Amino acid sequence: MTTRTTVLVVDDEVSVCYILKEFLVSHQFHVVIAKSGHEALEIIERQPVDLVISDLVMPRMDGIALTRLIGEFNASIPVIIMTGFATIDSAVIAIKAGAADFITKPFKFNHTLFVIRRVLETQDLRDLATQSEYFRQLSNTDDLTGLHNHRYLKQVLENEIKRHVRYKHCFSLIFIDIDNFKLINDEFGHLVGDQVLLGVADIMKNSFRGSDILTRYGGEEFCAILPETTAQEALVVGRRFVDTIFNHAFDLELNEKGLRISVTAGLAVFPDHGGDVKQLIHAADLALYKGKKSGKNCICLYRARDEETL
Ligand code: GH3
Ligand code: MG
Ligand code: MG
Repeated sequence: MTTRTTVLVVDDEVSVCYILKEFLVSHQFHVVIAKSGHEALEIIERQPVDLVISDLVMPRMDGIALTRLIGEFNASIPVIIMTGFATIDSAVIAIKAGAADFITKPFKFNHTLFVIRRVLETQDLRDLATQSEYFRQLSNTDDLTGLHNHRYLKQVLENEIKRHVRYKHCFSLIFIDIDNFKLINDEFGHLVGDQVLLGVADIMKNSFRGSDILTRYGGEEFCAILPETTAQEALVVGRRFVDTIFNHAFDLELNEKGLRISVTAGLAVFPDHGGDVKQLIHAADLALYKGKKSGKNCICLYRARDEETL
């Protein structure tokens, strides 16, 4: 296996391929040649390629079409288009189609090498950025449901509080806990329990607005932050969600009727029920507890007097 950078050179004019190959090999690149766009695609499917240098004008599939198809297949393979001076306008079209850059024929080898290195460096940086974004998301995401996790919730709450203090807007926090979840695990096993958690997360995604922030708080507890939403509005949304869950038959191949569950929710509103993250979470938690005590399958709003009675 080679650790050198693999460059795929695509041109229907074989002599061009070999001139470029000789030059690139002398600069330690590993070079593969294709005489058409179709051949190039076959090679890309078969083996790792770090960079494609393709002629613009070729019979059947031109460089622009090839660039598009490579982009669809693997967006992290950059394409450099080769063109004669007369077709520089088309090179601009190629860039619009997703090519990383273009070089002109006949080759000015120093410039060609410069472009190749710059394109490869840019691609490396892009890959790195994608990777770190992936890891950033991973550490903020709950593995099972794909919702945000506890860590992210805390961060967002801090930010929302700052933002809302500045603009004097309110926001709502709804805690949700599946009722009698332990029984589901006990009766059907943890795998079925996990499927229920996934199902609840899916229904959440469909029940709340795109701008609401949905998290799995832990275990069978979920949480939604509803920006710019009053207690009255949040109660409507929350109640609808509680009802949707109650009316949903979870199809887990256990029986024909599906599994029925319910959830209980607690609602607290910033700033009325708490001025910081801790107070607000406490308020939503207490409201949830009130709902559990009053028979589950409902949503309860926090009230200050609950502090003494619960
Ligand atoms: P309540 O109505 O009062 O909320 O009762 P409950 O049974 O839902 O609450 P309890 O806190 O007694 O039990 C929660 C259960 O959730 C216990 C735990 O094993 C289970 N659980 C926590 N995390 C997971 C998970 O990731 N997957 C599964 N399958 N179960 C989990
Ligand atoms: Mg719980
Ligand atoms: Mg529970």
